[in-house]
Amino acid sequence: LANRAFHPEDSTVDVSGVKVGGGHMAMIAGPCSVETEEQVIEVARAVKAAGANLLRGGAFKPRTSPYSFQGLGLEGLDLLCKAKEETGLPIVTELMSAEYLEIFDEKVDLIQIGARNMQNFDLLKQLGQTKRPILLKRGLNATYEEWVMSAEYIMASGNENVILCERGVRTFETYTRNTLDLQAIPVLRRMTHLPVIIDPSHAGGKWWLVDSMAKAAVAAGADGLMIEVHNNPELALCDGGQSLKPTKYADLLKQLSKIAAAV
Ligand code: PEP
Ligand code: MN
Repeated sequence: LANRAFHPEDSTVDVSGVKVGGGHMAMIAGPCSVETEEQVIEVARAVKAAGANLLRGGAFKPRTSPYSFQGLGLEGLDLLCKAKEETGLPIVTELMSAEYLEIFDEKVDLIQIGARNMQNFDLLKQLGQTKRPILLKRGLNATYEEWVMSAEYIMASGNENVILCERGVRTFETYTRNTLDLQAIPVLRRMTHLPVIIDPSHAGGKWWLVDSMAKAAVAAGADGLMIEVHNNPELALCDGGQSLKPTKYADLLKQLSKIAAAV
C-alpha cells in the first residue's frame, strides 16, 4: 500500500486542514514535553507567529530512565488542547499505548508513534481503528525496509494516512545523539508515495545543529520539519539542550522559506 510502484503520485495527508506532502510542508514545532499551561501556550503562540502550522508537545514520554520526567499524561493532553484553542494550531503528540487510542482519536490531530514503538506491531495494528493521520518515526536502528513495513502495518489495518519522520539513527558516533540520515528523503521518496519529514532536534541532540540540518533537509526535498522549541530551554524538563528559543526558530523559518522557494 505504501509502495510507489502502485501509486506513482506523491500522497498528501490532511491533518485537520493542514496539508502535508505533494508540495505542502508540515512545520511542526513545540516543546519536547508539555510542562505547564503557561509554558505550552507561550510556546504555541510564539511558534505560530514564526510560521509553524502544527504544534507538538509530549504528554506521554518514552524516557530511557524510569526516574526521568515521564510527562503529564492526560493532563498534558488537555493543556495541549487548550493551546490549540488559543492558537488554532492542530496538535501532534505521542501515543505509547493503545489504551489511550480512543481519547487520542477524539483530541489529537496527528498521532505520533515514537522511534521506540516503531515495531510495536500490536500498537501499529490498532491504529487502523482511527482515521487520524499517523506520524511514524523511524526506529533507532531500523532499516528503510523495516520502517516502510511498519507503515504498511498501519495502512493494511485500515489507516492510509501515514507520514514518515526521520529522526536520526544509532551509529558508532557518540558526539551527537544520533546520526541524521538525510538519504532517507530520496530513498523513501523512491520506495513510497508517503510524505517524509525530518526531526533535526532528536537527530543531533544539540540546539546548534538544528539550523544547518533543517536547511539541508529542506534543500533535499523534505515534506516538513519537526523542531523542538522551548521558551526557557535551560529549565526544560526534557531535551532542553536540543531545543531552540522561539526567536531562533523564527529566524530559521525565514531562512527556510528562501531555500524552499529555490528547490
Ligand atoms: C519525541 O519526538 O518526543 C520523541 C521522543 O522522539 P523519538 O521517538 O524520535 O525519540
Ligand atoms: Mn524530545
